[in-house]
Amino acid sequence: MELSILPLTQPKARPRDENALAFGKTFSDRMFVMEYATAKGWHGARIAPYGPFSLDPAAAVLHYAQEIFEGLKAFRCQDGRIALFRPTDNVKRFNRSADRMCMPRVDEAFFLQAIKELVRLEADWVPRSEGTSLYIRPTMIATDPYLGVRPSDTYLCYVILSPVAAYYKGGFSPVKIWISDEFVRSAPGGTGEAKTGGNYAASLRASMEAAKLGFDQVLWLDAVHRKYVEEVGSMNICFYLDGKVVTSPLKGTILDGITRRSVLTLIRDLGIEVEERALSVEEIMEGAASGRLVEAFGTGTAAVVSPVGQLTYRDRTIEIGGNQVGALTLKLYETLTGIQYGRLPDPHGWVEKI
Ligand SMILES: *Cc1c(COP(=O)(O)O)cnc(C)c1O
Repeated sequence: MELSILPLTQPKARPRDENALAFGKTFSDRMFVMEYATAKGWHGARIAPYGPFSLDPAAAVLHYAQEIFEGLKAFRCQDGRIALFRPTDNVKRFNRSADRMCMPRVDEAFFLQAIKELVRLEADWVPRSEGTSLYIRPTMIATDPYLGVRPSDTYLCYVILSPVAAYYKGGFSPVKIWISDEFVRSAPGGTGEAKTGGNYAASLRASMEAAKLGFDQVLWLDAVHRKYVEEVGSMNICFYLDGKVVTSPLKGTILDGITRRSVLTLIRDLGIEVEERALSVEEIMEGAASGRLVEAFGTGTAAVVSPVGQLTYRDRTIEIGGNQVGALTLKLYETLTGIQYGRLPDPHGWVEKI
C-alpha cells in the first residue's frame, strides 16, 4: 500500500512550556489515517493534518464499543536522534486486540513504517526537556452506520501524537492504592487482555471512588475468587517478596504489558528470580506486616515504573518499604529510562532509532 503525505497548511504553535504539558491534551500537526472495507481491505493510507472526523451517529463504535488502541512513546536521545521503544511489540499487540474484538488486522511492517514516518515528519514535536516524550496513540474504530450487533464491515485506523511532560514532575514518589473488593476490571473469557476502550469505561467507577477516598489508583483483584492480584489502574504490578519478584501470570485477564515484559527481563538480568504466579491479597498484607514484602511497583508506558507506598484493603492499610521508593524500583526505573533515552547501552535491542 502507498502512503501519501498531504500538505500541511496551518502548523500549530509549539507548546510554550514543555514541562507544563498535561498528559494527552496537546496534539501535533499531523496524524496517520487509513480506512478499511471488507471488500477492499485497508486503503487510503495517508498522513494528513490533525483534525476531527465526520462519523455517522449510528457508527458501531459509538454504540457497541468495537474499538482498540495502543500507547507507546518516542524519546529524544542524548545524541539528538529520536527513538521508539519496542514499537513492533505494540503493533503485534494491536493485532492481538483486533483479533479479540473481531476487527481487521493491520499489516505489521506497513503500520510500523507509517508510525515511524509520522514521527519523522513531526520530529519537531518530540519535546527536548529532561523526562519528556512524544506519546503515540494508534487507534482503530468500527464505523458501519448500523445498529445491529455484529462486527462492522468498515473501520477507521489512525495514529495521533501528543507531547507529554515528565511523568514525575513532583519527584519519584510512592502512590497510595485502594484494593477494590467490589468492582472488577476483567473476568476469565472477557476482554482484559485486549487494549480496548470498554475495559477503561468499566474501570471509571472504581477509580472515581478511589479518588474520592484520597487514593491514587485502584488495585484490581481477580473476578472469580476476588482474592488474587491482577493489575493496578492501567498498569501491571510487581511485588518484591522473599527476595523474588512476583507478578500475576498472563492468563487472559490482564494486559501483556511491554513495560512489564521489559522490567521482568531487567530483573532477571540483575540475577533476581521472577515468579509469574497467583498472589493473594492476604499474602501481600501478611508480607508487608512481617517485612517479607519490601517493594511493590506498577509498570506501564506512561509512568514506566510507579512505586507503591501504601495499600488499603477493606479497613486495613499497610505501608510497603516504609512508604519510601525501594532500591530495586529505583534501579529498574533508572535502567529502563536510561535505555529509552540512550543514556545506557541497549543490550536487548529494544530501542529503534528513526
Ligand atoms: C496499556 C496497559 C498496560 C501497560 O502496558 P504497557 O505496554 O507496559 O504500556 C497495563 N495494563 C493495562 C490495562 C493497559 O491498558
